Order: sequence, then structure tokens, then C-alpha cells
Amino acid sequence: MEVDAAVVGSGPNGLAAAIRLAEAGRRVVVYERNATIGGGSRTMELTGGSHFDVCSAVHPLAVASPYLSSLPLAAHGLRWLHPEVLAAHPIEGDRSALLRANLDDTAAGLGVDSERWRRMFRTVVDHWDDLSGSLLGPVVRFPRHPVALARFGLRAMVPATRTVARFEAEEAKALFAGVAAHTMLPLDRPLTSAIALVLAGAADIGGWPLPEGGSQSIADALAAHLVALGGHIVTGVEITDLHQVDCRGPVLFDTAPEHLAAIAGHELPSRYRRKLGRYRRGMSSFKVDYLLRGPVPWLDPACGHAGTVHLGGTAAEVAEAEARTWAGRVPEHPFTLLAQPSVVDPTRAPEGHQVIWAYCHAPRGFDGDLTDHIERQIERFAPGFRDLVEHRFTRSASDAESDNPNLVAGDIGGGSPAGLQLLFRPGRRIDPYRTPNPRLFLCSASTPPGAGVHGMCGFWAAESALRHWPRP
Ligand SMILES: Cc1cc2nc3c(=O)[nH]c(=O)nc-3n(C[C@H](O)[C@H](O)[C@H](O)COP(=O)(O)OP(=O)(O)OC[C@H]3O[C@@H](n4cnc5c(N)ncnc54)[C@H](O)[C@@H]3O)c2cc1C
Repeated sequence: MEVDAAVVGSGPNGLAAAIRLAEAGRRVVVYERNATIGGGSRTMELTGGSHFDVCSAVHPLAVASPYLSSLPLAAHGLRWLHPEVLAAHPIEGDRSALLRANLDDTAAGLGVDSERWRRMFRTVVDHWDDLSGSLLGPVVRFPRHPVALARFGLRAMVPATRTVARFEAEEAKALFAGVAAHTMLPLDRPLTSAIALVLAGAADIGGWPLPEGGSQSIADALAAHLVALGGHIVTGVEITDLHQVDCRGPVLFDTAPEHLAAIAGHELPSRYRRKLGRYRRGMSSFKVDYLLRGPVPWLDPACGHAGTVHLGGTAAEVAEAEARTWAGRVPEHPFTLLAQPSVVDPTRAPEGHQVIWAYCHAPRGFDGDLTDHIERQIERFAPGFRDLVEHRFTRSASDAESDNPNLVAGDIGGGSPAGLQLLFRPGRRIDPYRTPNPRLFLCSASTPPGAGVHGMCGFWAAESALRHWPRP
């Protein structure tokens, strides 16, 4: 098979990169080591009739992504399901804060802080179309809407703890802290407000939906579109040496930077190779999937309508847990994210059952079992949860990494977001996707804009490859 370009890895970024190249008329092949495509966008049947998301479950960034939302994925079977409550954050007993699909509705539920919440998110919501190219792209590009971006930047740069302090009541404080904790950094670090502004702002753009049938549907729709454009996907082939890639044109790596260095090191200058080898890793994670005999017995019934539930208690508790985790200690109550696909998708579990997806943040390099920590967090807000568990499937950091080598030591963020590595990854380069070898590009979540199923790392890497390889 003669091809003009190759992509190593079929995660959402690898598939997005391949689609962009195929759109530009390139004959593309994607190599995937696993038997199933999708990387962090996969769903598996673990017990008869129960479908569990291996990694990602909830997709505010996929629907808000300028590139993925431009693709005809609905025509390839992708159907978004929208929960009534996007995210719930139980605080204590039956007291919760709720993120809804409309900024005014979320604000209305936040009492004394409603006007402050509305003002804080207005810029992101009103200017999403102008801002999304900058927020979901490399920072070195000159912004097309500098005023809106500067206004966003002033709010985004401050630590989440400072933003939280501006609210009066615990509802807004906890809701903001829970979304900011997706950054996987101590909340007193600069830029931790940015992720909260983007993710909670995205609620108003396309919601926080779940794909019918699970995250695999996103990868399958991307793959079907790629094939319709003439692309090829080869599964079960792990690229361990560049010589395996039969293509004279550009090769895009949807891999960890360390693995790009290992696979193509002989084709890269030693300085750059060393830089990739020194790439900093972030927190680890521990995941449990559950099959339940019935819905979670939340103390606050509103949580039962939420696609996502943030389990961390008050903003101060969330901040404390994240700080401890970052410092290398397992907190008593680690910040835990839980998704309830069955709330919107009856295809995921047999009649009368529910699938639950949950993971907690863990210290960098931690490879132990945190099932009990996760269940204590859930039981705190839903006593009786454990009695409903029919099956549980646990996934430690090393399980995750052996299934997908991009999850180095369980780091689900594609690299540490600390310091400048949140913005400049894998290193400080004008074109972060291009390596010093003009044929080799990196397109994984270890490039801007980082983690999440949005395909934008792949899109920008493909744009870079097309610029440097204008003709096949
Ligand atoms: C537990 C967990 C929960 C998450 N939750 C969410 C969520 O709810 N929403 C969200 O938006 N994001 C979520 N994410 C993050 C999201 O899944 C990732 O950021 C995203 O999948 C990154 O996409 P990618 O294409 O860069 O890499 P990946 O999705 O990791 O894909 C990389 C692919 O490349 C393959 N590969 C690697 N090396 C080679 C090689 N040498 N040869 C051949 N193939 C290779 C891998 O097998 C894999 O299929 C979550 C991640 C995890 C782990």
C-alpha cells in the first residue's frame, strides 16, 4: 500500500490528524498497536450487556472542538446524549451545587453568587467562537481576537483558590473548585482557573454530553469518516522502530514524547531526544468501573440526574486533597470523578442495572489500589452504594499503561501541567508539533492544547505537516 503520510496511534488526536491529512488529499495510514482503535476513546463489554468506557466518558471538549464539530460524525452514527444536570458537586448531606447547560440556569442555582458566576463566565460563553481557536491551540499563534483573549486571560491566569475566594457561598466555591481540579494541579497554582473557565464555560456551548453506546462511538465515527476519505487503519501493529513505517512522507506520532524518542531517536538530534526523555509527568490515577443493581442512592436526588458527579466536598477539601496528592501523599479523601452513563443511555447496561465510571487522582507514580478510598467518597454522599455493587473492575496506573503506553505511570493528562508545560509541550518551540527532523511530528495530548477528546492536537499537527510537506 503506497501512502503519502503515516500516523502512529489511533487515539482521537491520531484519527483527527489522519482525517485532516486525508481531507487535503493525502493517502494516509494509521498504525494502532491494540486490536481496537480509539486509545482514550474506547468502550469495552466487561460483563454480558454492560459497556464500560476504558478512559474518557464525558465530552464537553469534543462538542466544543472547532475541528471535531466540523466533521460529519453524526452521519457515521455518533449521537450525543445530554443529561438533565451536566455535573453535580455534592457538598455535605443533601446539599449540592449543579452545573447546567445554560449559564443563567447554573447561576440561578448559586444564590448570592449568581451574578458573580454569570459575570465570570460571560466572556467565555459569548466569545467561544472567537476564543476557541486560541484556547484549543498553540499559544504562539497571534490571537485573532486579542481583546476577548486578554479579558479571558486576566481571569484564567489566577489560581483557582483566588477565584474561589471571590464567591460568598460554598455552592459556587465548591462547583468552581471541582471543575478546576480537572487540571490535576494544586489549586493555588497560576492558571488553574483557566481549565475551570473553559470546561464550565463549555457547558453553555455544547453541554457535557455522553455519546450513545460509549466513547468508542466517537472513535468509530472518526474512523468511518477517515475510511470514507480513503484512509487506512491497521490494528495490532506496534511501531517500535521508525523503519517499520513504510512511507517517505511525514510521520505523525500520537504517542508519548518519551516513546517518540525511543522509536525515532536515531533520526532526531541528541539535544531534542534528551529533552523528550526529560518530559515531566503529572499525577497518576486509579479507576474503578461498576455494574450496579439500580441507581446510586444519592442523598441529594438531583445528583441522580447528573452525567458527571465531582466528589470532593467543600472547595477547601478539594484544594487540600489536590495539594496532598501533588505532594506525593494519598489523601484520606482523594478528589474523585464519577460518571453515570446509564442516566442517559439505556444501551449501556442490562435492564434494571447501571454502569458507573469513577476514578480518583493519585500521587505521581503511585501504583496501588484506591478502591476503598473511592468507595468511601461515594458512600459519603450516597450511603448504601456498596450494597448495590454487582461487579467492580479496577484499573491501576500500571494496568492503564500496559493497555495504552501513552498513559505513562498512569498520567492521564499527557504530561504534567505544572509551570509552562501546560502551555508549551513537549517543550518551548514555535511549532510544538514539528520535531527538528522535518519528517517527524508529534500529535498526541503531549502537545497543545493538551488532554481531552477534542482532536485539536491532531488537527494542528496535521496543519503543520501540510505546511512543511505541501505536495505528496
Ligand atoms: C481514566 C481517564 C479518564 C479520562 N476522562 C476523560 C473525559 O471524560 N473526557 C475527555 O475529554 N478526556 C478524558 N480523558 C483524556 C483523554 O482520554 C485523552 O486526553 C485523549 O484520549 C488523548 O488522545 P490522544 O489521541 O492524544 O492519545 P490516546 O487516546 O492515548 O491514544 C493513543 C493511541 O496510540 C496507540 N499507540 C501508542 N503508541 C503506539 C505505537 N508505538 N504503535 C502503535 N500504536 C501506538 C495507543 O494504543 C492508543 O490507542 C481521560 C483519560 C483517562 C485515562
